[in-house]
Order: sequence, then structure tokens, then C-alpha cells
Amino acid sequence: MRSNKRRDTKPELALRSILHRHGLRYRVDYAPLNDHRRRKADIVFTKAHVAVFVDGCFWHSCPLHGTVPKTHADYWEPKLSRNVQRDRETDAVLREAGWQVLRVWEHDLPADAAAVIEETVKRAGSR
Ligand SMILES: [Zn+2]
Repeated sequence: MRSNKRRDTKPELALRSILHRHGLRYRVDYAPLNDHRRRKADIVFTKAHVAVFVDGCFWHSCPLHGTVPKTHADYWEPKLSRNVQRDRETDAVLREAGWQVLRVWEHDLPADAAAVIEETVKRAGSR
């Protein structure tokens, strides 16, 4: 049975440790917007207004590894597509509020993801 644990996945921990080593400071599992407390991002740079999501390949239907389980497909299919729909809504809500949204896949190399995040945060900070 897969768990739907959102927080502290292995790729996320690897990514956070690189960012931290590079001197970046952030909040974890944090809702960027006060009036949307349930829309939490995995890594949040409050000053730079950058929200990072580390999306699991299964739960967020990654184009490379996303699959719909064959058993109970009629349960999983709508459930997984609702997840993706909610992701897009979250992106829209945050962007409308002036945030930059970065989404990385759990299959992305943490070092690559960290480089993109670092650059985005630094650019946002020097605006
Ligand atoms: Zn994937």
C-alpha cells in the first residue's frame, strides 16, 4: 500500500539539504497565502515569494512515470486527475497573488532542481 505522505520524501530531503548547504533559508510544508491555508507548498521562500512543490510521480501523474493502477481504475483515474487539477488551481491562485511557482518531479536530480530554485530565488531577491 502506498502512503500519501506529502512531507519529507527522500528526494525532497535531498533537495532541501542542498539548498540549505547553499545558504538558502525557507519554510517547509507551508501555506504561502493566509486565506488559502490548505494550499501548502513543500519549500517556501517567503521573502522572495517563491513556492516550490516536489511532486510525486504517482500522485501527480508525471508524464514519464505516472500510471493509473489497473485494479480499481475507476477509483484512481478521477482521483489522480483531481490531484492534477488541484495543482493547476494552486499554481493559478499563487501566481495571481504575485508568487512564482516552481514544480519539480521527485524523479528530477536534486542538484538540478536546486540550481533552478537557487537561481529563481536569487533573481527574485534582487528585483
Ligand atoms: Zn517521474
